[in-house]
Amino acid sequence: MKEKIQEKFRTLFGQDGELFASAGRINLIGEHTDYNGGYVFPGAIDKGIIAEIKLNGSDKVKAYSIDYDEYVEFGLGEEDKPSQGWASYIFGVCRETLKRGGKVEGFDTVFAGDVPLGAGLSSSAALESTFAYALNYLFANGIDKFELAKIGQSTEHNYCGVKCGIMDQFASIFGQQGKLIRLNCKTLEYKYFPFNPEGYKLVLIDSCVKHELASSAYNKRRASCENAAAAIRKNHPEVEFLSDAKRVWLDEVRDEIPEEDFLRAEYVIGEVQRVLDVCDALERGDYETVGEMMYQTHFGLSRLYEVSCEELDFLNKLARKCDVTGSRVMGGGFGGCTINLVKDELYDGFIAAAKEQFEARFGHALKVYDVVISDGARKL
Ligand code: ADP
Ligand code: MG
Repeated sequence: MKEKIQEKFRTLFGQDGELFASAGRINLIGEHTDYNGGYVFPGAIDKGIIAEIKLNGSDKVKAYSIDYDEYVEFGLGEEDKPSQGWASYIFGVCRETLKRGGKVEGFDTVFAGDVPLGAGLSSSAALESTFAYALNYLFANGIDKFELAKIGQSTEHNYCGVKCGIMDQFASIFGQQGKLIRLNCKTLEYKYFPFNPEGYKLVLIDSCVKHELASSAYNKRRASCENAAAAIRKNHPEVEFLSDAKRVWLDEVRDEIPEEDFLRAEYVIGEVQRVLDVCDALERGDYETVGEMMYQTHFGLSRLYEVSCEELDFLNKLARKCDVTGSRVMGGGFGGCTINLVKDELYDGFIAAAKEQFEARFGHALKVYDVVISDGARKL
């Protein structure tokens, strides 16, 4: 990928620039916890974006996307937003940097990536954080890393129409090889934990389905969580978010809230604890416990939070049958990927069984992405 970018850059711009990269991300555990003020536990992966960049002394950005085979030029004023989707991410990062008092002037760039688009690995965060990091470096703006993540998040909000949280950009900027990062979504405190599963592989299985329910169900889940938190708050005023509540406090209000809200809250409170348990297990190098927690999360997402679907439950059950150490739906639910922790010697059998049985059952193929926890935004 690097060589292709360099060759294209030389052809288009007649010289060499500097290389920057960033990564997509996975979230090992901690699902639907972010808007409940709980923990997420992401890490950057070995799939990302590489961009070659050189300042061009003009007030124009000249960008070529290898993957779209498209060249775009745009200015840096608010009115200069390009119409191409991919270019608006770069434009947004420029604008958000400028809004924070950073300097940005014209540059030439050629970039490419290998994060599958829209598969739940956040290719868009990889793109944003590559450019956020690179511009900060090239113009010596001295913007801190958290603010670089926020530049990516604001780009999604203000230029791409996606009201996302901070996790993806956070992971993509802060990610380090062999480490996952526990982020407290309420305080934004974070801590690195070792993730070096020797003898295991981490593999995503993409069901390649996305059921329509996702956004209305999401709003309903949020409302249930807020309702449960409000009921608990009457007894325990310190509960700002649902994740602040103890399990026994939820039991106290069982008869005051709809059964559905109770189940949603039961999942969230359990999930916050599971993230902590997984962190403890990782410090001991106990990947079997990590895996068991992943299965528990899947159960909760499927039966209590009810955001799974037939395809994902099928893949989860199959993982169990194949003695996969851990497996769960990753992301918002109703489709997308499962994330699986599987022993090296069981990997081939699991993948073969999943491919064959999934296609036989659902009539279309799945996709498989091996991932290794790797560095996030950086200069190459
Ligand atoms: P994801 O879940 O992968 O982040 P999004 O829809 O949020 O999916 O972002 C995908 C968009 O990001 C693409 O439509 C494109 O505009 C941009 N993008 C991601 N990767 C690349 C790439 N390699 N080259 C050009 N644009 C990319
Ligand atoms: Mg995205």
